[in-house]
Amino acid sequence: MIRLFSQLCKFFKQIPFENEITAFNKYVSSVNVENLVCPFCGAKHSLASFAFYKRHLVTYNNNIAEDNIIIISRYMCSSCNRTHALLPPVIVPYMSFSFKFTVYLIYDYLVHKYHSVEAMCEHYGIAISTFYRILKKFKEHKQIWLGLLEDKLISNLSFVRHIINSSFDELENFIIQFFKQNGLSFFQGTS
Ligand SMILES: [Zn+2]
Repeated sequence: MIRLFSQLCKFFKQIPFENEITAFNKYVSSVNVENLVCPFCGAKHSLASFAFYKRHLVTYNNNIAEDNIIIISRYMCSSCNRTHALLPPVIVPYMSFSFKFTVYLIYDYLVHKYHSVEAMCEHYGIAISTFYRILKKFKEHKQIWLGLLEDKLISNLSFVRHIINSSFDELENFIIQFFKQNGLSFFQGTS
């Protein structure tokens, strides 16, 4: 898998994370293939468009969960012959919920926006067990990111509030740094 970030895109103008489908399309349409590096063998200038596939992406916009169908591009490396899916930061690998969906879910839980976890999950259209898996992963990754000591000092709510209030650049940078540091994305491994 290739995590696609704006440095790899040409003519990339700042876009808000507000609508993740717009953000997704913007990323994919402006990708600069020349800048992509094969995540398996490290070859440069070796990737070429190979195939496309459709998948679901559940986003969260204006307090509404929406199921979208998106098209993911696969690239093939001419050096090692492996194929890699191109995944913009709105996508959490192997999860059908978008990054923002997941962040708002945690936020709404922490501020007790709904009178019960059941009511919240009904609003988001997810199973209660799914929510608890996401929450567990959130706590686990927060601790990995902050380290044991900082993790105790910074509450879950202030951490998630910080993510929500981040600018697009800050958010993307956080996703990049977490991925580089841990070899997987924030929230990855939930499903
Ligand atoms: Zn390769």
